[in-house]
Amino acid sequence: MLVTDSKELLPIFIAGERRLGRGDESATLYPATGEVVARLRAPSAADVAEAIVAADHAFRTSGWAQRKPHERAAVLHRVAALIRGRAEPLAQRQRLDNGKPISETRNLVASAAATFQFFAAALETMEETITPSRGDFMTMSVYEPMGVVAAITPWNSPIASEAQKLAPALAAGNAVIVKPAEVTPLMALELAAICEEAGVPRGIVSVLPGRGSVIGDAITKHPLVKRVSFTGGTSTGKHIARIAADKMMPVSLELGGKSATMVLEDADLDHAVNGVLYGIFSSSGESCIAGSRLFVARKLYAAFMERLAAKAAALRVGDPADERTQMGPLITGKHRDSIEGYVKLGLSEGGKLLAGGRRPEGMLYDRGNYYLPTILEGLRNSDQVVQQEIFGPVLVAMPFDTEEDLLAQANDSIYALAAGIWTRDYKKAWRIGRAVQAGTVWINTYKQFSISTPFGGWRDSGLGREKGRLGIQQYMEQKSLYWGLNDAPLPWAN
Ligand code: NAD
Repeated sequence: MLVTDSKELLPIFIAGERRLGRGDESATLYPATGEVVARLRAPSAADVAEAIVAADHAFRTSGWAQRKPHERAAVLHRVAALIRGRAEPLAQRQRLDNGKPISETRNLVASAAATFQFFAAALETMEETITPSRGDFMTMSVYEPMGVVAAITPWNSPIASEAQKLAPALAAGNAVIVKPAEVTPLMALELAAICEEAGVPRGIVSVLPGRGSVIGDAITKHPLVKRVSFTGGTSTGKHIARIAADKMMPVSLELGGKSATMVLEDADLDHAVNGVLYGIFSSSGESCIAGSRLFVARKLYAAFMERLAAKAAALRVGDPADERTQMGPLITGKHRDSIEGYVKLGLSEGGKLLAGGRRPEGMLYDRGNYYLPTILEGLRNSDQVVQQEIFGPVLVAMPFDTEEDLLAQANDSIYALAAGIWTRDYKKAWRIGRAVQAGTVWINTYKQFSISTPFGGWRDSGLGREKGRLGIQQYMEQKSLYWGLNDAPLPWAN
């Protein structure tokens, strides 16, 4: 691990060196208590430029891009093994960095290791193709690394988000500038140290924490940065897309959501109640795919909501270090204020509270950014609190009458990231699963992930896909090669 003493300033990874940034000093706080976990100094504008120029130099001179796929894959396998070897300290550090319960941070660390393993395998088996020839030439489709690419990540699932970008970008042979969220820089720094230890050449991975509007913006605008993979809010994503348009730079944007969960009349109720609960309240609802709009068949509605509200009220909200905790604190006090504002807005729009709607009280709770699992009903799909992303533990529930009515409401959102369907009728699941507009649809399950399956959103939920075997090609330029196969003169040649 890099450092444990919160008084020491943490070095960051600039231009192949571990050193202090020359920008503002900032501290990361444990959301459960407000205690300082680590302090660091962000990079200055000059540090950002230096890191990018050095990354470009490392890309051109370190030989990383020229290594054979199986050689780069071996390094990525070592990264996976190193993550697994220090899984527990990493999970504990991630808990301190962002306040998620330890049971969740252990899963995130495991998923980061699995991501490196998957992309190592994908790289080693990735094929370039000979395409059907239409003349006296052979045609091939090949892929080249891009150079310096940037990975900009949010605070809600640090190590997993960073691994999802870093692993395919490195597999592709690029140099990577990682820009973690200002409030959660620690996992990116740990990953960079692990990459170096595993044999990634110095300077190929840089980590530049700090304010998005300063550091993230400077990275995105830099002419040597050839691609940005961004996960975060929709307005930031649109801002990055505008810069990308000017530079003619490819981007992938994993953005916000307001996902619909649909409980049909014939659903297995125990399963559906638990699934809906997990879908919205795990990670304290600080999840892009949180199932935050709930539609329940009118016939079931009252009974279903009664069970759901009772279970929500019984969720174990508490100390993230406790193995039994289901919901930890929110990331910052400011974020909790924003969630409280949304609940007030919902009440002013005619909503009624079925659960939560307030901060829990008592010793433990008074120090951290806690908020109770909250359910609102009595609202229309068009209300602001039903349309806007809250990114917290707030569920809005509405009854529906017909399949047509359900689909019209579920699809009536600027977002289209994910959806959930709970039904025993596979034909209905098929119909609705195909008709609902979303990048991912879960049927009789929710918030399950597989690195082998592409992920991304439609509309304001984003552009492009991450994960899956083709995830590596996202970080490469495609090139077509034509090999002339006969000596007959071309037209005009004689
Ligand atoms: P955010 O957009 O504020 O920040 C995300 C990252 O972008 C941070 O590293 C931030 O510093 C950086 N950033 C901010 N302004 C920037 C700029 N002008 N230029 C470049 N970088 C900039 O989002 P957040 O508050 O950290 O995260 C919450 C949001 O992320 C939610 O909307 C959530 O839905 C979304 N999210 C989406 C996914 C997904 O896969 N679709 C996953 C997790 C979170």
